[in-house]
Amino acid sequence: MLISSRGLRTVYILPTNSVRLLRDSRRANILCFKGGAYLLEHRELQSSLTKLIDTEINPYVDQWEEEGQYPAHEVFKKLGQAGFLGITKPEKYGGLGLDYSFAVAAHEALGSINCGAIPMSVGVQTDMSTPALARFGSHYVKEQFLAPSIAGDYVSCLGVSEPGSGSDVATIQTTARRDGDDLIINGQKMWITNAFQADWMCLLANTSQAAPHINKSLICVPMDSPGIHLAKRINKIGMLSSDTAQIFFEDVRVPAKNLIGEEGKGFTYQMMQFQEERLAAAGLLLRPLEKCVEATIEYTKNRQAFGKSILDNQYVHYRLAELQTEIEALRALTYRATELYKEGEDVTKLVSMCKLKGGRLVREVTDSCLQFWGGMGFTKEVIVSRFYRDMRLVSIGGGADEVMLSIICKYMGILPKLGKKKQVVLPTETSEVETKRASHLL
Ligand SMILES: Cc1cc2nc3c(=O)[nH]c(=O)nc-3n(C[C@H](O)[C@H](O)[C@H](O)COP(=O)(O)OP(=O)(O)OC[C@H]3O[C@@H](n4cnc5c(N)ncnc54)[C@H](O)[C@@H]3O)c2cc1C
Repeated sequence: MLISSRGLRTVYILPTNSVRLLRDSRRANILCFKGGAYLLEHRELQSSLTKLIDTEINPYVDQWEEEGQYPAHEVFKKLGQAGFLGITKPEKYGGLGLDYSFAVAAHEALGSINCGAIPMSVGVQTDMSTPALARFGSHYVKEQFLAPSIAGDYVSCLGVSEPGSGSDVATIQTTARRDGDDLIINGQKMWITNAFQADWMCLLANTSQAAPHINKSLICVPMDSPGIHLAKRINKIGMLSSDTAQIFFEDVRVPAKNLIGEEGKGFTYQMMQFQEERLAAAGLLLRPLEKCVEATIEYTKNRQAFGKSILDNQYVHYRLAELQTEIEALRALTYRATELYKEGEDVTKLVSMCKLKGGRLVREVTDSCLQFWGGMGFTKEVIVSRFYRDMRLVSIGGGADEVMLSIICKYMGILPKLGKKKQVVLPTETSEVETKRASHLL
């Protein structure tokens, strides 16, 4: 028995009772995530996903990290078959149609993967390249790109950053100009996760000469289109099993019907998409942070110096208690943002705080824990050093800490030059919650 209407799926399934409870609570519009606490249904989803991770992913992580790439199609197929790639996506396209609290529960479980690279790659698929598609895409693009991504048949990537535009998304240079019923794409994208394995890209490009916030569109671009060239894999300090590349577009022709939603609304759609990316980042961090503390407790308990265990030094156990407290604070903030997001509230400030706090905290936790491992912490043999390298990215990718601070300042009314709200027309079938959510950002 399964939690979606998509037909029978294999091993990693939720018990019948949970399926019924989920469906009933959805029908009755009961809040399944009250007061920031997971209910039985969230926990069962997490236990099912953790089981899959323990058997199908974690045994191979060290090998994939060593090889510098993990087999995304193989892993996505397993996750897709079990329903984990479409938790919040419409049932019509194979998703489970659950609220966002279930996605955050799944992110937390994904954090039990023994590296940062694979959760990031999965997050690209579920929370970076597909939210706008699911929300604004036509039936055609949803059938072509969303459904196979939810099923795990397709791997996707997100093309926003460019060599000259990272933090300042409005300044991207890649263009997509109309040619009859087609769009011709020229330009380049930088730092693209999943680049070598992706079947399609959710691309942000300029489709007109209008002002920077109204001249952009999101487009589904098949990665086997003639004119797409991948530069060599970027040699990173962490996230080793995730492939990252620069991509060039030379007169790449795609049908204009591959546009996601309305032409010219891409910047706004991307800003909305960033909210899920940033909330996902916070959820994905919680377990690795806890793992660092747990592993450090275990190591320092058994390691002796000056006639006692390292852990028995007050400085060490107090520090670990302090870090654990900070992790709980991040969890509480993440749950609060999730609960409000689920209800369609404007969570931009809270989500930016989650991302900022997560980025800051992961640096603090991994650095402090690594210190207590002594020389061992400086080797590649221990999980703490892997997370130290991998998670450093959180303060940079998906909006650097300073960008999050700017957003928070804007919401606090202390950022100079406040921008004006923009108008956008949402598709007629947009739900009440989605409309409410969009209204805060547009
Ligand atoms: C491993 C990896 C994977 C990635 N995956 C993807 C992907 O799949 N798709 C994608 O589109 N992008 C991806 N990115 C890109 C990522 O989102 C950008 O690196 C990030 O947005 C920062 O842009 P930038 O590197 O151009 O830094 P810049 O914009 O050059 O900024 C450099 C630094 O300047 C500071 N800064 C920036 N703005 C301000 C400000 N307003 N005030 C004060 N200081 C400021 C910050 O400290 C920032 O880190 C990835 C990056 C990495 C490293």
